[in-house]
Amino acid sequence: MNKVEKLNTLNKKWLHECTCELKKTAIQGVPGDGNANAQIVFIGEAPGAKEDKEGRPFVGTAGKFLIEMLNSIKMKREDIYITNIVKYRPPENRDPTAKEILDCAKWLEEEIILIDPLLVVFLGRHSMSHFFPNEKISTAHGVILIGNHFSKVRHFFPLYHPAAALYNGSLRETLKKDFKKIPKILRGLR
Ligand code: URA
Repeated sequence: MNKVEKLNTLNKKWLHECTCELKKTAIQGVPGDGNANAQIVFIGEAPGAKEDKEGRPFVGTAGKFLIEMLNSIKMKREDIYITNIVKYRPPENRDPTAKEILDCAKWLEEEIILIDPLLVVFLGRHSMSHFFPNEKISTAHGVILIGNHFSKVRHFFPLYHPAAALYNGSLRETLKKDFKKIPKILRGLR
């Protein structure tokens, strides 16, 4: 099996086996999506209403903004892999609980180990805090973090969540500025 097939098999298996309570209220699970051979993986928070309907992550307004930023650094959605720390939509889009994050953690762990990217980007505080509980997104955004997660020492890059930045002019500018650092970081890691 190649990496694409392995990732499909893994996501199918976890859609079946995940014990997350949110399964009861969500329409469907939303597995990660994109390039199994990506050098960069983005980890968001949780699916919203549109993602829940379509079964695909980042297909709503936050996703559109993310693709715009990717295009601004000459990358496309097909170049990256994008997933969420929680794979089921929380009711009313509330924040995922620590228990819900833990219930999906093994799935995320297997996804990242299989893809084995050079860089993992956290979109927002929920994904970052699970791995770096002492960091705050207001100070850690746009700065490389190094940590032993997903089976080895890896590089992580926290960003503000695109949904938070959409309607806040100053966060939006900060996010765009941080995003522009990605190509140089990737070059340094190759
Ligand atoms: N926000 C997220 O964090 N993930 C999605 O899939 C959509 C919006």
